[in-house]
Amino acid sequence: MDFELSTEQKDIQEAASRFAKGEFTRELALKHEEEHSFPRDIWKKASELGFIGLHYPEEFGGQGLGVMENTLVVEEFCCRDSGIGTALALADFASEILMRHGTEDQKKKYLAKVASGRMISAGAFTEPNHGSDITRMDTRAVTKGDNRIINGTKTFITNGEIADFYIVLCQVDFEVSPSYRGMSLILVDRETEGVATQDVGTKMGIKMTSTAEISFSDVSVPLTNLVGEDGKGFYHVMEFFDESRIEIAATALGIAQGAFDRALEYAEQREQFGRRIADFQVTQHKLADMATAIEAARLIVYKSAWNFDQGRIDPRLTSMAKMFAGRTAVQVADEAIQILGGYGYITEYEVERFYRDAKIAEIYEGTREIQKNTIAGKLISKK
Ligand SMILES: Cc1cc2nc3c(=O)[nH]c(=O)nc-3n(C[C@H](O)[C@H](O)[C@H](O)COP(=O)(O)OP(=O)(O)OC[C@H]3O[C@@H](n4cnc5c(N)ncnc54)[C@H](O)[C@@H]3O)c2cc1C
Repeated sequence: MDFELSTEQKDIQEAASRFAKGEFTRELALKHEEEHSFPRDIWKKASELGFIGLHYPEEFGGQGLGVMENTLVVEEFCCRDSGIGTALALADFASEILMRHGTEDQKKKYLAKVASGRMISAGAFTEPNHGSDITRMDTRAVTKGDNRIINGTKTFITNGEIADFYIVLCQVDFEVSPSYRGMSLILVDRETEGVATQDVGTKMGIKMTSTAEISFSDVSVPLTNLVGEDGKGFYHVMEFFDESRIEIAATALGIAQGAFDRALEYAEQREQFGRRIADFQVTQHKLADMATAIEAARLIVYKSAWNFDQGRIDPRLTSMAKMFAGRTAVQVADEAIQILGGYGYITEYEVERFYRDAKIAEIYEGTREIQKNTIAGKLISKK
C-alpha cells in the first residue's frame, strides 16, 4: 500500500494550484458572482493549458490521464475559489459519456472541442416530474425516417443556457417494462430548431453556472446523434454517475479545504480578549475537527478515483465519497463562517460563498439520501 501521489500527479497538483492562484482573483470571483456569469476567459485559458478534459484520450484533445489527475485539478481549483472552480469543473459536464460511448465522428466533432475550450457541454436527465427517480422519462424521441423527433422538458440543467450541445435522456420504447429499459441518449445542438431555454431563477450558490429548463418541441435530429446503444441510455447514465460523482466529491473536497484555509488564517491573526482566537481551545477543537473530516473525505475521494482508474468501478465507494465530501464541505464551511464571526457573514471574506457553493454537492448527481440508498443497497442482502 502506498498513499503517496506520483511525481507527475504532484506536478499536476502544483500546476493547477499555481494557475488558480494567478487567475482566480477575488475581484474576478466577486464580479462573476454578482453578474451570475460564467468565467469564460479563465475557462479558455484553463482549457488551453490542458486542465479541462485531461482525462480524455490525447487524440481527442485530452492528456490521456485518469480520473485521479482530474480530481487533483478540480480540488485545487475549488480550494482557490468555490465558484470559479465549480464552474470550470462542470464546463465539460457529461462529456465523459461521449468519451466512453460516442462514435468516432461524435468524439472528433464534440469531445475534442470541449477539451480545447471551444465547446461547453451539458447532460440533460432531470425532468420537472422526475428528479431522483430517472427510471421514468416523459421526454420522448420518436423515429421518423432517418431522424428522431424529440418532445419534452428537462429542468435544472447545468450550462443549460450556455452549452453548445446537450446529451438528452429520452424514452424511445413506449411498450417495454420496466420503462428504463427503453431509454436512449441523444445528442442535441443547442441551436437546433425547437430547442428553447429558460433560466430557473436565482439560486443559493454556484451562481457562475447557468441552470436552466430546456424544452424540446418537435426537435428533429439525425439518427446518428444517438450516443451509445439504443435502449441503453439509462444504464449509460448510471455508469456515468459512477465517474461524475467522484468529480462532484472533488469539488466538495476543494471547497472544504478552501474554507478551512481561510478560517485558519483568520484565527491566527484575529485577536479578542488580548489573545489570538486560535489560542482559544474551542477554536482549536473546531479546526481539529474540520481538518480531520477533510482528511477522511480526501482518503475516500482519492480511493474512489484511484479505484476507477484501475477499472474497479465501485458505486458504493463513489456514493460514500460524494456523500461524505459533500457533508464535510457544508459542515466545514459552516464552521469557517463561525470562526470568522461577523466577517464570515460578509461576502468580501468569501467563506459565506464557499458555504453556499458547498450545499449543491449534497443535491445534484443524486441527493445525500439517494447516495445512502445506493450504499445500503450494496450492504444489505436482498430477501
Ligand atoms: C443547481 C443544480 C444543478 C443541476 N444540474 C443538473 C444537470 O446538469 N443535469 C441534470 O440532469 N440534473 C441536474 N440537476 C438536478 C438534480 O440532479 C436533482 O435536483 C436531484 O437529483 C434531485 O431531484 P429533485 O430536485 O427532483 O428532488 P426529488 O427527487 O423530488 O427529491 C426531493 C427529496 O426527496 C428525497 N428522496 C427522493 N427519493 C427518495 C428515495 N427513494 N429515498 C429517500 N429519499 C428520497 C430526496 O433525497 C430529496 O431530499 C441540478 C440541480 C440543481 C439544483
